[in-house]
Amino acid sequence: MGLFSQGTCVLCGAPVKSMWAAKIAEGLLCKACCRKAGYFSRSRAKNKTLDNVRADMARMEAAAARQRAFEPTRTIGKHLAIDEHKQQWQILDGVTGKLIMSRVLDFSEIVSYELLEDGETLAKGGLGRALVGGALFGGVGAIVGGVTGKKSKNVINSMKIKITVRDMSNPVVYVSLISGKTKHNSLTHRLAQETAQEILSLLELMQELAGNV
Ligand SMILES: [Zn+2]
Repeated sequence: MGLFSQGTCVLCGAPVKSMWAAKIAEGLLCKACCRKAGYFSRSRAKNKTLDNVRADMARMEAAAARQRAFEPTRTIGKHLAIDEHKQQWQILDGVTGKLIMSRVLDFSEIVSYELLEDGETLAKGGLGRALVGGALFGGVGAIVGGVTGKKSKNVINSMKIKITVRDMSNPVVYVSLISGKTKHNSLTHRLAQETAQEILSLLELMQELAGNV
């Protein structure tokens, strides 16, 4: 066998021509099958069995079906889309308003959420606790949870909302609101704060609607 014909795919039987073939327990898995199972790097296929691959493919198909059925009734900037009828939500790319990944989440999957500015928690909420820190929007320097107050900085490098979801394999998603040097209290900063506040309130509301409080 030459370099470019390594054998056949153990799942679909297609000839595996390229050097890009993943090894699973039973043999080689072709690139197309890897894609269908969501393995975008060879290492993701490592230690998988054919049964694992079939299960992963089914999961990918189910996710794609959810994506197709998702009909946003509300979007928040280019950051978040909500389907109020199905009680589902997903994060957009933040720039063009497109989807970053086919990941539609249920309202009931929200566990907790917090607003981070340069890694510092400014507000947080979630299961069993009300949103705290909301009062600092517009205020300066206040920080949630007794974290010692550093002096407010002149420049902010990142602002994002970290959302923990009920998913063992992928428990955290982020909404990025600022991802580059931004002057403190500039229009960009204040707009990001406004958006953050709206998203945090919606997360709280979604959790409440799901009966998850
Ligand atoms: Zn294949």
